[in-house]
Amino acid sequence: MASKVAPKAATGPLNPKTAHREFFGFPGSVVIIATTTIVLYTWNFSCNVKDGCELPLTAERWAHIFAGAMNYQDYLSLEAFKYYVMWWTWLAALYFIIPATNIQGVVLRDGQRLSYPMNGFSSLLVTTLVTLAVYMKVGTEPFLWIADHFFELAVASWIFATSLALFVYIYSFRHSHVERPGKPTVMLGLAGNSGNPVYDFFIGRELNPRIGSLDIKVFCELRPGIMGWILLNVCFAIKQYKDQGSVSVSMWLAIVPQLWYCIETLIFEDKVLTTMDVTTDGFGWMLSFGDLTWVPFMYTVQARYLSFTPVTLSTPYAASLAVMATCSYLVFRLSNSEKNAFRTNPNDPKVQHLKYITTESGSRLLISGWWGAARHINYTGDWMLGLAQCLATGMNTPMTYFFSGYFLVLLVHRNYRDEHKCREKYKKDWDKYCEIVPYMFIPYVI
Ligand code: NDP
Repeated sequence: MASKVAPKAATGPLNPKTAHREFFGFPGSVVIIATTTIVLYTWNFSCNVKDGCELPLTAERWAHIFAGAMNYQDYLSLEAFKYYVMWWTWLAALYFIIPATNIQGVVLRDGQRLSYPMNGFSSLLVTTLVTLAVYMKVGTEPFLWIADHFFELAVASWIFATSLALFVYIYSFRHSHVERPGKPTVMLGLAGNSGNPVYDFFIGRELNPRIGSLDIKVFCELRPGIMGWILLNVCFAIKQYKDQGSVSVSMWLAIVPQLWYCIETLIFEDKVLTTMDVTTDGFGWMLSFGDLTWVPFMYTVQARYLSFTPVTLSTPYAASLAVMATCSYLVFRLSNSEKNAFRTNPNDPKVQHLKYITTESGSRLLISGWWGAARHINYTGDWMLGLAQCLATGMNTPMTYFFSGYFLVLLVHRNYRDEHKCREKYKKDWDKYCEIVPYMFIPYVI
């Protein structure tokens, strides 16, 4: 449901033509769609229970991978697709059924604010109870099925995500984009109105596609993917227990931080409403695939590997990883909370003592505390937390370090995107901030 707030002065067309195409526009979109899909495929066919996870891949292994791709009947499964759609439908039903407090998102360009039900965490609780009931009734079989049919489910989610992106792209044409007083207008993402169908499909044409009150973007950001990530990790731990007789310390170290990360995201689900993904980016293939396929099926590679490979860690190594994960989490959480608290209420006793500069735009930038140590120390904590999970898989193969490598690229790119945005917004005030806080990620290093 949308509510009207004080209308914004019209300073130009509501949906201007996209001037700057991100990710190198049309060719970049094609390359990213192809590359991420190939990576998803390759990581499954070159790291699995039959073939192990050895690198480098020999010519013979590449031939095997290629032959696997041709045998599409091995991974195109109607059954997996049916279960995937059931998972999605179940969570969508909970979105509507579970009583929720509604929270308003940021003010949009047309002065409206959209309302979002905050029942993600209760949906997780209900899903957990139902999962436990399934376990009590039929045992581990469904969980083992999920672990064993992981790639069929990944392919099903890819088909679903791509169809959804196509649907929202077509759906975005449902109203005229010429503004007419009193007529509803579809709000497009500023980056997704280039007129090039492939690029707009990829980056996301409509900002907040909705079917009734189901906000497709926020739903996908938090529910099928994040909860799927939890479920897959649990299934791989059960698989390990079944095949190896216990859940190893390495498995616990790999999955517990991830489980907590997901649970925390759902507990504080309102925080997603102010992220760049929700406020700025349209919903297209990039987010649909990222949320529904990439996050659950690529971020679980550590647990998947451990489900078929016994890895024994020495006690000092395991203890160091636990300390590393805890410290990294604290850096990530405390720095993000400090900024949130300061931005919400600078007089909060927890942040009152912090030093800041006031910019010409009126916003304040912290220059002490976590944000005085480095300009994106929150990214450093987040990345180190991911690295600790990868280190739990031992040193046998680089393939389980995928998450760290990919996340590094993502956060460095995001850092430059954010710094660019802040430089444009704060101009010389941002330069002043950079002079006072010269480090990006690690104090006195970089
Ligand atoms: P940040 O939380 O880093 O926020 C950046 C914004 O904060 C800037 O644009 C600016 O906004 C404001 N800001 C910058 N410096 C200061 C300062 N010194 N004082 C006060 N405000 C400041 O943005 P993200 O949304 O990128 O990251 C949030 C968290 O999400 C991070 O911990 C990140 O690691 C994590 N993340 C995780 C991902 C995943 O896949 N797991 C993906 C992306 C992010 P303003 O214009 O308001 O001033």
